[in-house]
Amino acid sequence: MTQAAAQMFWRCGNCTFTLQASCPPDLCPSCRVPCKFKDVSCYLPECGGPGNIDQRLR
Ligand SMILES: [Zn+2]
Repeated sequence: MTQAAAQMFWRCGNCTFTLQASCPPDLCPSCRVPCKFKDVSCYLPECGGPGNIDQRLR
């Protein structure tokens, strides 16, 4: 099992830019301001499990 190494998805709370990384960046690469990144990673089989974005959180 390598699910623990699966990267997480983060969505910028300012511009809704979504990126995949193990942890959110300090500055959003899209809007270039320090913003809150929301974890939109999927944790349920319904949306495909780890490695996928939970579409309901978009
Ligand atoms: Zn942004």
